[in-house]
Amino acid sequence: MFELPSRTRGAFHQRMLVAVFDTKPYDRNYLQAARPPGKIEWSFHEFRLSAQTAPAAAGADSVCVFVNDRVDAACLELLHRQGVRHVALRCAGFNNVDLAAAKQLGLVVTRVPAYSPHAVAEHTLALLLTLNRRIHRAYNRVREQNFSLNGLVGFDLFGKTVGIIGTGKIGRLAAQIFRGFGCHVLAYDTQTDPAWAQAQQVTYTDLNALLEQSDIVSLHVPLFPETLHLLNEQTIARMKPGAHIVNTSRGKLIDTTALIAALKSGHLGGVALDVYEEEEGIFFEDHSGVVLQDDELSRLLTFPNVLITSHQAFLTHEALTEIARVTAGNIVHINRDEPALEGTQL
Ligand code: NAD
Repeated sequence: MFELPSRTRGAFHQRMLVAVFDTKPYDRNYLQAARPPGKIEWSFHEFRLSAQTAPAAAGADSVCVFVNDRVDAACLELLHRQGVRHVALRCAGFNNVDLAAAKQLGLVVTRVPAYSPHAVAEHTLALLLTLNRRIHRAYNRVREQNFSLNGLVGFDLFGKTVGIIGTGKIGRLAAQIFRGFGCHVLAYDTQTDPAWAQAQQVTYTDLNALLEQSDIVSLHVPLFPETLHLLNEQTIARMKPGAHIVNTSRGKLIDTTALIAALKSGHLGGVALDVYEEEEGIFFEDHSGVVLQDDELSRLLTFPNVLITSHQAFLTHEALTEIARVTAGNIVHINRDEPALEGTQL
């Protein structure tokens, strides 16, 4: 719930104009449905924010951006010159914003740190179950009255060893769901939580042991310089023959060239991805009528044991509602010179 301030500390804006970039119908619907204690006028743009498109924010108090907008120093400088005072990220990740430049210009940057970890953890299982039990293939067959089961053999999750890399909000939930299936869960994180692990019967181990022992490896660490290509030729080689990888975190955690090599050789049993190393400019858009120029993505799409979704793990009613609530709340707070909602300012 939003709290109405007892008094405002700065200029009170009766109506706040917000330029919203990279929007899709679902963004617009949920942002318009948010009911903050202040009147927001949304100006929706389908194109992404960059230094080239920043003039579209002229007259706006805030801009609202997503994962693939390029909010670099040049872009921020233009926004600042046009009177924008707030960049509201409607996502958790902020690797696309030059925070140092924003600070220097006095621009406030906020994000939505946790909208629904359940949405992402549940999608992790949805991907793995679909891939393993060939649900996507079965669905298409049955619609064509092909009731054959040939080629649809999967495996029980019960009793398998799952390696969770990153036991933050999402990784923990994924671990708990896997425990519910009767899996043994190994975990690796630079910050361990022994009490949680004991309560959930999860075993922390080092990265090499996790890779060597797991039938399924699921990635839940953020993208940092030290996690870039966490799964590469060497680390994938350590994995069990026939092991599966699930990545619902960030595409650049996996070296795609090494992944393709391990799929071609048959070393990996299956790969389920919600994110892809070079997804920017491809994911979230309909490219069905054009020739795909990304040869590695094209190759990945040819494997029968690879399943890809287009960065949709977050896409639930609950997550979109929470994203809109926090984003709209922050727009009102910042434009009234009030502190951002707790834990959201960068
Ligand atoms: P979180 O911050 O709660 O947890 C991240 C965990 O990773 C922490 O426990 C941290 O200690 C650990 N970690 C950080 N660096 C590490 C390293 N070098 N080695 C091992 N562990 C390390 O984050 P979260 O909310 O669980 O989200 C995880 C990731 O999921 C996000 O960073 C984001 O990339 C991704 N995500 C994807 C979607 C989607 O739609 N596909 C949506 C939201 C988040």
